[in-house]
Amino acid sequence: MRSLPRPTDETLQAYDPGEVFETCVSMVRDKDLKNRLRATRPMVESDAKDYFAKARGADLYQLVGYDPVGMVSGEEMVGVYTLRMVPKKSKGRPIYDRIMTTPAHSRCPMCGIGTVNTLDHYLPKTHYPVYAVAPDNLVAACKWCQGEKSEYFPANKAGQLLHPYFDDFDGEIWLVAEVIVGSPVAFRFFAAPPSHWSGDDQARTASHLKELNLPTLFASNAGSRLAEIRGRLTGLFKLGGKSVVRDHLKEELVSIEADHRNSWVAAMYRAAVASDWFCDGGFIPT
Ligand SMILES: [Zn+2]
Repeated sequence: MRSLPRPTDETLQAYDPGEVFETCVSMVRDKDLKNRLRATRPMVESDAKDYFAKARGADLYQLVGYDPVGMVSGEEMVGVYTLRMVPKKSKGRPIYDRIMTTPAHSRCPMCGIGTVNTLDHYLPKTHYPVYAVAPDNLVAACKWCQGEKSEYFPANKAGQLLHPYFDDFDGEIWLVAEVIVGSPVAFRFFAAPPSHWSGDDQARTASHLKELNLPTLFASNAGSRLAEIRGRLTGLFKLGGKSVVRDHLKEELVSIEADHRNSWVAAMYRAAVASDWFCDGGFIPT
């Protein structure tokens, strides 16, 4: 997971959730619906404040979804997103587009692999309709992550996925891989955070991997990466054996970790460096 700044408006201030909501509902033609939606604005605003406070303490699991929101049904509230923020010509679309551009190079912050092509609701909009267009709840994500996460929401602190706007777990290494001896070689990915982290923080890294099915995605990408570098490694191995292979991998790892120490590729290279079998030509298929 890569941390991101909270989404900001054109003046680089964090979006005002009440204003975002009003922008989205401003073009609703049905007068009755528009009045009922506008009447919920105070709830939207105060719940967004609560979201921010809870998110900062990693306590979003304490929020309880409810439907209806005041005089507005959950379905109508979700419609504020699907009809007033997603469609290309809707009033809310510029906000949608701006949040989509938050991750550098359109890289999905949840997996670090996919290209963002949607906004994911960290707390799913069907269970938490009041957060359907709350900027802090909208995270640019790739198809894989949105599909795997689906309607997931945390039942406890340990079950909270890492939130790009509020969590920074990159102070230390927590994503680890190991070499699976065989032909062709494979990599297995798992969370192994430092033991001095709180039990909940440790569990959250595992929840993040599990709920997004990231070990599968990472293993597949590691297989492709290995195919790309196998020729180079084989040449080095023939030249100077395992120590030359290991030195090369270590050198690559320095620059990979400088980019992101908990990326799947950093975990893959650390596993390769640590494996005598791998460096001793294990990467060459038999
Ligand atoms: Zn992703």
